[in-house]
Amino acid sequence: MVGESGCGKSVTAQSILGLVKVPPAMVEGSINFAGKELIGLLEEEYRKIRGMKISMIFQEPMSSFDPLYTIGQQLMEVSKAHLPLKEEEAKKRIIETLKLVHIPEPEKRYNEYPHEMSGGMLQRIMIAMALITGPEIIIADEPTTALDVTIQSQVLNLMQELQSSYNGSMLFITHDLGTVAEIADRVHVMYAGKIVEKASVVELFESPLHPYTSGLLRSRVKREYKGKDLPYIKGYVPRADQFSTGCRFSPRCPNAMVKCQEMTPPEFHPNQNHIVSCWLFEGSDKSEDTNNQGS
Ligand code: SF4
Repeated sequence: MVGESGCGKSVTAQSILGLVKVPPAMVEGSINFAGKELIGLLEEEYRKIRGMKISMIFQEPMSSFDPLYTIGQQLMEVSKAHLPLKEEEAKKRIIETLKLVHIPEPEKRYNEYPHEMSGGMLQRIMIAMALITGPEIIIADEPTTALDVTIQSQVLNLMQELQSSYNGSMLFITHDLGTVAEIADRVHVMYAGKIVEKASVVELFESPLHPYTSGLLRSRVKREYKGKDLPYIKGYVPRADQFSTGCRFSPRCPNAMVKCQEMTPPEFHPNQNHIVSCWLFEGSDKSEDTNNQGS
């Protein structure tokens, strides 16, 4: 899932895990996990899913661990909360998972504190924490944003490696299209709390349809821009209490029409497996063809 900062990506992830406090917040719609509706689930039931079937990797490895407990104690707490393992078995599983994420000398690191680790190492330990229970889905919320560029690629390489060996799905949240190109199979583009385009990664980069996606792709820094003004999308993502009527992107959209300011565009399917919410594609809907082909 990709979009600018402030467009609602992290709130969406937190809503999936039931981490948004209701009230004062409001979570509407439907979150369907393995045939189960998660909205309105009791906290007690959520605890059986959160961390066990869906786990999360957070943005800030440095602030996500408790500085007063060793890495081993914190991983053991996760194991005790979710797995029916005796302490020795759990420790063995933790050490194996630390090895899986390439932590050197995992037996020694088990007894060390977070301040004794680098940012990259802590992020890999957070990935281990997410993997320990063997979840069906991992939500990775900008897991490389707080890291140096060289460490970012190490962590991304690790996640790609896990993707091919780990028998589950990953929802990777980022504002960085370079990361999307490296890691994603399918991309959902979010703007102002709504998904505005869905496509395979190849299709999205080769034939973006939504004016916001095209703007994001144009805004990537390239060598040929040297000495010239960099292209950018004018304006800012609006706050939730300032959404315009109709299409939420209309105040920033170079293609906006009168209709865009009056009516919210529904989803159109101009190509098989490519979905866009934009009035420019009205009448190009191939969803019936797609449905007929059983997709
Ligand atoms: Fe632009 Fe209109 Fe499409 Fe919104 S619906 S992205 S304003 S053309």
